[in-house]
Formats: sequence, structure tokens, C-alpha cells
Amino acid sequence: MADEFEFRSKREAIVETGLAMVEGDLTTGTGGNVSARTGDSVVISPSAVPYDEIDPADVPVVTLDGERVAGDLPPSSETPMHTNVYAGREDIGGIVHTHSPYASTFASLDEPIPASSYLIAYAGHEVPVAGYAPPGSEELAEYALDALDEETNACLLRNHGVLAVGETVEAAHETALIVEHCARIHYQASAIGDPVILSDQEVDELIAGFEEYRNQ
Ligand SMILES: [Zn+2]
Repeated sequence: MADEFEFRSKREAIVETGLAMVEGDLTTGTGGNVSARTGDSVVISPSAVPYDEIDPADVPVVTLDGERVAGDLPPSSETPMHTNVYAGREDIGGIVHTHSPYASTFASLDEPIPASSYLIAYAGHEVPVAGYAPPGSEELAEYALDALDEETNACLLRNHGVLAVGETVEAAHETALIVEHCARIHYQASAIGDPVILSDQEVDELIAGFEEYRNQ
């Protein structure tokens, strides 16, 4: 288990990221959820409480099996999706799930968001679509992990929303914002013409450049 200080800072990060998600129009009300890995457990937003009413001290902590070990509030109903992705991708330290409108539009079309903006490289070569399963189900947890290969940091959840991951919850939130931006640009460009899609090689170069920038 991580120490008290780490739990406290991760719990505060959960509440701050949740508030930022609402302020950035990535979700409304109590929708969406956020989590951060700490040691072998996961600090996750509680179920059905508006982000501006959450006391960080009550934010639940669960094991990778989804069992609550701390915090007074019940964990998000999407906990299986979060814990399954942490179990399958050791490089991930933070997850943000949103219902942002432009990205959710492509999710409902079952269409990946292609590389029509260079910023897509933050998420991968494209933002793929994970198959449909009911919210909160083990199947959805499996489909989401399947869509997130090692080079992909975001996927759409068909007929539902977005899952973005990163080394930290702040990085995952940044990726969720970028996914929504890329979806909006692709939507707008498609509405008035034929967007030009960057080649795989061009996206590879962008990904390498972003990695270099991050490691500076
Ligand atoms: Zn959702």
C-alpha cells in the first residue's frame, strides 16, 4: 500500500481532474470518472456524487480486484474498466473516462477518429473504437483494454464515450481534451470537404517527437 501522503495527493488530483472535466465540457453532472494508480491499488472517483461535492478524504481506494479498501464513498460503477486497464498496461498511472460530445459522435458512428490533426499523435495513430457492452460490465472492461494496445492512449467506447490513459491522471485528462479537439476538427473538416489524413510515417515521426519532448 502507498503511504498516507501519496493517497492524499492522489485523492485531491481525482477531485481536481473531475472538476476540470466538467469545466472543459468533457462531461456533465456526475458523468464520466477518473482514477489514479498508487502502488498496487487505485484511487477512483466515487459513484453518483457531483465532483464539486466530493471531499477528497472520502474518495474511495480499491484493489486491482475492485475491492474497496479505503474511503467512505462507493467507487464508480465503471471500476472494472479502470482496474482491468491497469492490470493489462503496467505503464499506465491515470485514466479518464468522458462523454465528450464530438468524440462520442464518432463512437456512435462506430468510426475511429483518424489522423486529420497532428495532435492525434498524443493518442496514437488514430483513436479506435472498442466494441459495445453495457456500462459498468466486465465485457466493456475487456473490450476497452483490447482497443488500447501499447501505442494507443485513447479509445472510443461504442455508443458511449471516451477512455483516455496516461502516465498520470493529469496526462490522461490532457489526452481526453486532445481527443475531443481532434474529433471536433475531423467533424468540421468532414462537414465542408474531405480532410487530408496524415500518413502512418508522418504520425510515427510525430509520436517520436512527442516522446522526445516528454523526456526532456
Ligand atoms: Zn460513461
